[in-house]
Amino acid sequence: MTPTASAAAPLPPFEHSYAELPGHFYAEIPPTPVPEPYLLRLNHALIDELGLDADWLASSDGVAMLAGNRLPETAKPIAMAYAGHQFGNFVPSLGDGRAILLGEVVDRQGRRRDVQLKGAGRTPFSRSGDGRAVLGPVLREYILGEAMHGLGIPTTRALGMVATGEPVFRERPEPGAILTRVAASHIRVGTFEYFARRGNTDAVRTLADYLIQRHYPELAESDAPYADLLAAIAARQGELIARWLLVGFIHGVMNTDNMALSGETIDYGPCAFMDEYDPNQVYSSIDRFGRYAYGQQPSIGLWNLTQLANCLLPLLAADTEEDMEAAKTQARSALDAYGKAFEPAYYGGLRAKIGVMDDGTDTGADDELVTDLLGRMAQHRADFTNTFRLLADARPDDPATLEPVRAGFTDPAAFDTWAAQWRERLTRQREPDAERQARMRALSPAYIPRNHRVQEVIDAATERGDLAPLERLLAVVSRPYDDHPEQAEYRQPPQEHEVVHQTFCGT
Ligand code: AMP
Ligand code: MG
Repeated sequence: MTPTASAAAPLPPFEHSYAELPGHFYAEIPPTPVPEPYLLRLNHALIDELGLDADWLASSDGVAMLAGNRLPETAKPIAMAYAGHQFGNFVPSLGDGRAILLGEVVDRQGRRRDVQLKGAGRTPFSRSGDGRAVLGPVLREYILGEAMHGLGIPTTRALGMVATGEPVFRERPEPGAILTRVAASHIRVGTFEYFARRGNTDAVRTLADYLIQRHYPELAESDAPYADLLAAIAARQGELIARWLLVGFIHGVMNTDNMALSGETIDYGPCAFMDEYDPNQVYSSIDRFGRYAYGQQPSIGLWNLTQLANCLLPLLAADTEEDMEAAKTQARSALDAYGKAFEPAYYGGLRAKIGVMDDGTDTGADDELVTDLLGRMAQHRADFTNTFRLLADARPDDPATLEPVRAGFTDPAAFDTWAAQWRERLTRQREPDAERQARMRALSPAYIPRNHRVQEVIDAATERGDLAPLERLLAVVSRPYDDHPEQAEYRQPPQEHEVVHQTFCGT
């Protein structure tokens, strides 16, 4: 089957700045139609942001687009080329094996956003894959993207999802689904690696220029645009990864093809928010050596950026008319921007999460205070999210308010020792409790999409076609800093039998 003749749609026309790049940057490929598509959910807030027509998207023509069965005439479906380091091993050709970009839409705020169908059928990059996506992972990506957005962290988001009416064969037959992904762009570290490995410096330059124009326009006039680009990308990644850590997020597959150069979180595969604080926590069934464990993420971020730096070396050398050694020195100093962004974002964020204000002097002692808390949390299996949120609700002088926090430690006395120091420290600050508490609550969510809750949504949808649990979970995680007293059960960590130890790639 090929998609039926294109249709006029009450949509703004798709634009194609990426598809205007040279032809070897992508492959033109229409989605493969599916037999019986039906709408699972639309993201009305995002539809509104993009200025799209929700009624049309919900109509049979709209669903036909979201399923890849019939595209508006302004769509130009392409699969993007990229390479990538997967678990450290270089793969020279990956590319969109199951995702098809329809084009770009300029949203109400003037931001250019990619609209892509994930699970839309085979492409020239599919290798042995079927080009399809399974309902479970599609639900996970939808939920985690909305949660991340609710937390205020840059992320791709789902515009909607449709069921395909067709089984997808994995370990067993699973219901197929397609997610419509909206992203600032889909350019990855791996996109540069694709051209760099082929020795195509012109293409690397074209891509770098495009990236500057699209995401870093302030660098257009720079004297050293490519070194500055590397530094700017590194700074955004440093900040992003700090923010993941501050909410207990584990990406799970930080391969270079899953690192978007826009600075958005992308590719929610075997990812999760952790329950008990454990820096070594891994959820991915394919990450046998813990390469992408929670606490490894900062160093992996830099490792990935080093791969990007290698791709840019020829541009840096040409820029300065210097040799490779000088280019490497330049690259190394650009990469310093990563730590310079990460360190203050992470440690500053942690200090703010325990409510201490920087008075410009003794942040070293405050860093020790918060590191001490984390050590005790890890040792005594305290829940990451609840510890910080309950701490925000506590008043150090009122033992009754400290009780819920200490009860979360296997040895509550370990918390008491810390709380005495915390109390001492806050006394110096002379700030009304209510003000400190409001600041702390704005940084430490009450709600994360806990893994057992995500699993509950997936099971209900997959086994019974029941989407009610999805709605309930989305309602709390999309406003995670608010108290939702009637939904308090979503704050509960999993019971022993509910713990999900691994999530699967779902490819
Ligand atoms: P991921 O692990 O999801 O980041 O995907 C890694 C690579 O495998 C990318 O090139 C994907 O496009 C490709 N891929 C993943 N799943 C499939 C599938 N079901 N069919 C074809 N290609 C796939
Ligand atoms: Mg990927």
